[in-house]
Amino acid sequence: MRCPFCRHSDCKVIDSREVEEGTATRRRRACAACGKRFTTVEEAVLAVVKRSGVTEPFSRDKVVSGVRRACQGRSVDEDALQQLAHRVEEAVRAGGTAEIPSNEVGLAILGPLKELDEVAYLRFASVYRSFTSIEDFEREIADLRVAAAGEAADPRDRADRRETSPSG
Ligand SMILES: [Zn+2]
Repeated sequence: MRCPFCRHSDCKVIDSREVEEGTATRRRRACAACGKRFTTVEEAVLAVVKRSGVTEPFSRDKVVSGVRRACQGRSVDEDALQQLAHRVEEAVRAGGTAEIPSNEVGLAILGPLKELDEVAYLRFASVYRSFTSIEDFEREIADLRVAAAGEAADPRDRADRRETSPSG
């Protein structure tokens, strides 16, 4: 780290502490040449690589605002949004790479969002997967139906009830 005053490259660390809940380290340094002191902050950054090639730090707030847009008019509260963003961040961090393509962040959002609100999920997926036709929606909705049927405790039970009611 070069001294900001004289550009000398030999600076010694005189104090070091964790800030921002341990995600960053602040170091107090003294220049060996001019003796002046300055502070550096080192932050471990998860970078998101956009399709254009531009990178930016991963931001939980950005996840929240993107999902909030998809949740407009739905009964999804702020708490749920924050929880979802937290899950997305965990998933992204667990990926083990420091540079994540933005579409992988999108992928990490889709799973938890599907559980949270199916309409918001469809909206988000339509943008993220660039749906171009009604068929795209139909396919996605069909998948949602299949998933919902799979989750029901006993789907056959429901079918039986529907069939037996007229005769009974
Ligand atoms: Zn200096």
